[in-house]
Amino acid sequence: MPSSLIAGNWKMFKTASEARLFIQDFLKIYTPTDSVEVLIAPPFTALQAVHDALGSTTIALAAQNVCGEKEGAFTGEISPLMLKDLGCKYVIVGHSERRQHYGETNSLINQKIHSVLAHDLLPILCVGESLEERQAGHTPRVIEKQIQEGLHNIAADQVRQLTIAYEPVWAIGTGLAATVEQATEVHIQIGQVIEEKWKIDRQDIRILYGGSVNAENATSLFQSSAINGALVGKACLNPDTFAKIIFSAKKT
Ligand code: PEP
Repeated sequence: MPSSLIAGNWKMFKTASEARLFIQDFLKIYTPTDSVEVLIAPPFTALQAVHDALGSTTIALAAQNVCGEKEGAFTGEISPLMLKDLGCKYVIVGHSERRQHYGETNSLINQKIHSVLAHDLLPILCVGESLEERQAGHTPRVIEKQIQEGLHNIAADQVRQLTIAYEPVWAIGTGLAATVEQATEVHIQIGQVIEEKWKIDRQDIRILYGGSVNAENATSLFQSSAINGALVGKACLNPDTFAKIIFSAKKT
């Protein structure tokens, strides 16, 4: 099993100058260790600043989105080639805010995953159900469809390089995190889908939980052996809180 991963998604927060200050503050309170991998996903405009401020630490750099094409007439888009060149290791793909506000479909997400892998970057595929879907009892169906379609024609050895983030839409940015039981149930299901379809050991991939993770609920979430880390939004914007969440993952 790979080490736990704590991923900080800054969303559309922090200028390049603010990003530099954040990393300086964060490195005063957090020393990277091997037991937990940490990544930071700033906006595109702060990738270079974060990369430079991280220097030779083992904290990984990630992008929050990517274009499925390598280059060409795609105004306003950023390609995996460009992200790789900037020193990114991971790319978040299919975040629910991209699905909701920018109409990203499973098919587009699949194109992005192929492109990310083709450029030796590691995708973090986000999946998750809406409140209506959960209340209607459709969570397993929705999650399975997002995985099957998002990973269409992805080979087993590539799936092994993947991280999946289970992010129930109703928990993102609401302060209402899934309970450990709710998250564990879906994580187990995701593992089963992966094992059945790609015949690989679920232990070979990381499944993160995301949705209102904070310094208070992190410890209990990480006690579940089905939860291999977290994708953190709001709570990663403060260096102290982000460090506390990472320490919780280290302790468990
Ligand atoms: C996210 O952006 O992926 C996220 C989980 O946000 P928050 O932690 O703020 O709910």
